Formats: sequence, structure tokens, C-alpha cells
Amino acid sequence: MTNFRKVVSLFCITSTMAALLFSLSASANTEELKENPYKVKRTLPKEMVKHRKLFSKGEGGMSGTYQLDNHPIYTVHSPGEWGGNVTFIVASDQVIVYDTSISTQGSKAALAEIRKITDKPIKTIFYSHHHTDHYNGTAALVKEADVKSGKVTIYAWENFVEEKNNEFGAILPRQAIGAAYHAGALLAKEDQVYFSCCGIKSLGGSPGYIAPTHTLKGGEVLKIGGVEIQVIYTGGEAISEFGLYLPKTETLILADEFFYSLPNIHSIRGSRPRLPQNYLKALDTALELKPKYLLGSHIMPVIGRKKIEEVVTLNRDAIQFMWDQSIRYINKGYDGMDLQQKFNVLPEYLTGFPFNTYLYGSPRTTVPEFYNGWVSWFNGDAATLYPDSRQDHARKLVKTIGGREKVLAAAEKAFNEKDYKYAARLSGFLVTIDTKDMRARYLKASSLRGIGYKEVNQIMRSNYLTGALELEGKIKAEDILKFSLKTFLPAVLDDKTIFAQWQYKINAEKIKNSQVSVCLKVKETNIYWDIKIRNSVMISKNSTDKICKNAENITLDQLNQLNKGSKKSEALSLKHVNKGINSLYNALDLKMDPINMSLR
Ligand SMILES: [Zn+2]
Repeated sequence: MTNFRKVVSLFCITSTMAALLFSLSASANTEELKENPYKVKRTLPKEMVKHRKLFSKGEGGMSGTYQLDNHPIYTVHSPGEWGGNVTFIVASDQVIVYDTSISTQGSKAALAEIRKITDKPIKTIFYSHHHTDHYNGTAALVKEADVKSGKVTIYAWENFVEEKNNEFGAILPRQAIGAAYHAGALLAKEDQVYFSCCGIKSLGGSPGYIAPTHTLKGGEVLKIGGVEIQVIYTGGEAISEFGLYLPKTETLILADEFFYSLPNIHSIRGSRPRLPQNYLKALDTALELKPKYLLGSHIMPVIGRKKIEEVVTLNRDAIQFMWDQSIRYINKGYDGMDLQQKFNVLPEYLTGFPFNTYLYGSPRTTVPEFYNGWVSWFNGDAATLYPDSRQDHARKLVKTIGGREKVLAAAEKAFNEKDYKYAARLSGFLVTIDTKDMRARYLKASSLRGIGYKEVNQIMRSNYLTGALELEGKIKAEDILKFSLKTFLPAVLDDKTIFAQWQYKINAEKIKNSQVSVCLKVKETNIYWDIKIRNSVMISKNSTDKICKNAENITLDQLNQLNKGSKKSEALSLKHVNKGINSLYNALDLKMDPINMSLR
């Protein structure tokens, strides 16, 4: 799972949520409304109830430890209901672990299971990829000192650290908001039913990441404690992702390339593009190996060659179907929204519980991306090529219909007839014209809830329900941003990363085409940076003391402080406030703006 991990700590949220709630102030230009007058009944689709059992304890719940027949290979599935399995192999002198769950609470639950079976030490850990739910439980399994001293080896793909650092990079504020809306982090407890790909508890756990000690680049055959392990690159859900194949037992461990849902091929949360071809490659690798046992980091073991072939084939075919048929229909003139209608659901022969459900990835969120990625945002209708602004369009439309009251009445009628989609769009025009129009905001909020409570895809559901809270004024963008940044922004960034990100923070309106030229020497790394700004674009290059003759000194701590938006006077002690740093600082827009999603 990818997006899921973003909200790891978002759910240590009870007290934070209380802070996010604020009392509604009456709209300036509409009547006083104490609360939302439009009511929608809370419902949960049946498939979600069924799906939840895959990860839960208690009656009918499938969370637990699974052994592969009588082989010393086990998966602790959804340990303590936490997202992220811990798979382990009992070898001659040690326990080998593949993935450490989303939190130390999860891995502690897994460790208790390991200790029921063996008292051998854990000496080897694999991180299947750079998503939090695969490495955050490590500290409860092994001691950091043992990792440092070499007693414990942690393997990860060669780009693991880089990918981990870059996951929240240039578009951090937008991604942070997207993540908060993605997984129900801000919803009332009764609405928090997030378990779409990967488990029930995804929030509020304690992180216990320990950095890898060894990197992998593919093709390795390892012999650990008498167990032969082939490293298999998959790279579908994440480009740092790999599986393990144990030839003796014909066991394939496949992380997140295959789980209890269609994959989220390109996340609407905001992520770098993901390609359907990469998922297909990963699953085809699994099919080619013809394993007898298939394990993953969010599933119970699938046992039997025939069964594995059947379920993996159905999953990979659904992916290829979405892609191939989207291209086919793009060539018939369909745009992204047309594709969404056309492939609202997949044919029955490509659906099936549990692997081909829409709980996480869904054709509704996937196929419009194919159009955008391979054609463009433009749907071909020249009337949409450069239309009026959102506000102008709403104003003209509402005026044409006969004004606010008429539009409101029509929206209420649609709402009462349970045509929630239309009610949300109509009331949305009024919100766009006047974001203080509380009646319109309430109506749009309840309409979104009406849609959301019926939606089986968790990400869509969460966006609908969280958008409703935003419209009601129960959550505030600035509080979400503050919280998300605290959660997601790495504590310390290196100089290279900071300068790479500052490129996107040049305040063009302020500095226009004035020129800035500064040479900096970063104390800790001894690296010289030659930074120039011209025409509101910043170019940063590594340099030398020969070119950067009078370089100004700066520390990483100071750079990080500036980057986090600390005041210049706080970040730089006075003697360091030199001319060059000053002019660079003055050219930056370091403020992170809160972003409204449905209130716009
Ligand atoms: Zn995952």
C-alpha cells in the first residue's frame, strides 16, 4: 500500500482532532444556521463489512499467524489488526523477517507470535519497499545497537533511502493535504473504517524505523541460515519493491504487488505517476515462477499452484483490461470522464472477492488518469480549452438560472430526491461564488455524504466525507497542514534536497527579473553551492572554492530552520546574516499555504 502509509501518525489523532474542530461562525451574508439542516443516514456497504473481516480479530476475523504446511515459514497477517504483515522464516541459526509492519505496536504483536514458535534471534530483515507500513515496526523486533554492530542485517533495494526521502518532496503541502483526505484520518470515529488495501489500524502507531545496512539491486542469491533466497525485483507498486523466492519450498513473497483489492495504479492523493505496465510486469513475474505458495504483506498465504495462477491471472487481467480498453475507447474519442462512466465497474468476469474488489484501487479513480497521462488534460472540446474562471462560470450560470434562491431550491430538490451528485454540483456553484454561504455549504456537504456513504472505494469515500467536514467548517485547512507537516516533513533534509525544493519556492511576483548570485559553503558537508536566480528561476550547482571564492558559511541546521519557515533572525545568528544569504532568503516564498479541497 502506498497512500495508506502517509497517514500513519495522522491517526494518533483524537486529541489533535479536538483541536481541529472549531465553532462555526455565522455566515456574513446568509441566515444564521446553528447546524447542518440537511440530514443523511450513515451507511456502510456490505462489501466493506465483509472485507474488514479479512484483517480483523474476533468472530470471523482473519488476523492471525499462518504457516505454510509444515515448512518453517509463517506470516503474521494483520498483527494485532495493524496494517502490514510480518513474514518470517525460521532458519538454522536465526529468524529471517520480511517486512516489519506499520508500527511498533504491530511488530510487537508479531514478535509475540514469533516467540510462540522459536526463541532464535532475528538476524536478517528485508524491507520490501519504501512505504511506511513495511519498515516502521523494526525497533520492536531488533535493537538498533545490534544493527549498528552488524549482528543484524537489514536489506533494502538500492533506491530505498532515496525513494523514502523523495516520497514527500516538491509537492509536500499538496500531498500532505491529499493524504489527510485519503484515508479517513479526519473523520469521526464512526466514519473511520479505513482498511481498503491493508488493514484496520493504520493510525496512531509508534514509528520504529531503523535504516537498512545492505542494498540489493537484483539477481542476488543469498544463503542465510541454510535457506536459499533469490531476490526478485518487481517494481510495480513502488520502484523500490522486490520479492523473495525460496526455491526449496517454491515460495514467493510478493509484498504489495498483490492484495485484497485492485491496485491503486495512480493515486488521486497526489503522487508521482505509476504505470500499469509495471504492475503487470510484477504479476507476470509471479506467474512465470509458478510458486506453490504465495505470500504478501497484506494477505493471508495463497496455497496451491492452480489457485495462485487463477487469482493472480484475474488480478493482472483486470489491470490490463482497464488499460487496454481505456486506450481503445480513447481512440473512439472518449475523454477521462467518459472513460470513468464507461468503466464505472468492470465486467463481472473480472471482479471477485477478495482480490479483485474496488476497496483500494477502482476503475473509477484509475481510468481517467490514463486519459490525462497519455492524451492530456484537454478533452478535445474547444469550449473547454480556455474557459471562464471557476468563479466567473459559476456567477454567470447562477444568474442565468435566476439567482441564488432558484439554484438553491433546485439543489434542495435534487437532494430530497437523493440525486446527491447533482445536488453537490448545483450547491457547489453557490459555494464557489460565496464561500461564506453556509446554507449552500451545508447542502453540498450533505450531498457529498450522500454519495460517500454508498461508495465502496475507501479513498473516494474518504474524500467525500472529509470534504463534507471541510464545508461544514469542522476542519480547517491550516490545522490539517500544520498537523500533516509535523507528521510527514522529515526532521532534517540535506542541502541538496533543500536547494532542489527551493527552486519551487521562488517568489516570482516579488523578485520579478532581479538577479541574485550567492556562493554558500555548507559547514557539515564542506560542499560549495553556486546559486543563481535570474528571471525568477533558480539554478543551484555544486561548485569549488576556486569559483566560489568568497563563499558564505551556513550550517545544515540553519538551512533546515529556514526551510521550515522559521524567521530569518531565528534561523541565522546575526554574524551569519550575510548579503548573499539575505538576498536568497528574500527571494523565497517559504510560507506553506493551507489548501481547501471541496470548499472552493
Ligand atoms: Zn503496504
